[in-house]
Amino acid sequence: MINNLLNNQHDCPCGSGQNYTKCCKPYHDGSHAPSAEFLMRARYSAYCMANSDYLFHTWHPGSRPKKIKLGNDPSVRWIRLDIMRSENGGANDKMGVVEFKAFYEIDGKTGSLHEISNFVKEDNQWYYFDGEIEYHDDEEQDDFKDFKPVRRLSAET
Ligand SMILES: [Zn+2]
Repeated sequence: MINNLLNNQHDCPCGSGQNYTKCCKPYHDGSHAPSAEFLMRARYSAYCMANSDYLFHTWHPGSRPKKIKLGNDPSVRWIRLDIMRSENGGANDKMGVVEFKAFYEIDGKTGSLHEISNFVKEDNQWYYFDGEIEYHDDEEQDDFKDFKPVRRLSAET
C-alpha cells in the first residue's frame, strides 16, 4: 500500500493534490512544519504510511505515549482527510486548533473520526498536544465498534 501511494506522484496521502515529495515528505524527513495545519496534514500522512517515528517526534513530550508502534494491518486503510477548521497555529502563534475528519476503512466497512486537535509551538517547532475525538461508524456492528484505527497504536503511558 505504501508503494502504491508513492507511485502516484500527484497524490500525497494528506489529499493536498500535490506530489508527496513536495508536500509532506520534507516534514517526514525532518523539516519543521510551518503551521499547525501543515503538521496535522503531515501527521495524517504519517498514519497512512505507518510512520510511527514521525508521529512520536511531533507529539508533545508532555502528552505523548512512551512508545508508538503502528500495526501493519492491511485490512485497515485511511481514505481521506478533510480539514474543517483551522484557528491560529500560524507563524506568530504559540497555540493552534485544527478540526478535521479522517475517513477510514476496516475490512471493507467505512467510518470516520472527527477530532478537534490542539497544537503547541515550542522552540519554533509545532507539536500535536491532544484532542477531542469522536467516531462515526457507518455500520453499527458490535465487533466494529471495538476495533478502531487508533487501537493500532500500541501506546504505553
Ligand atoms: Zn501532504
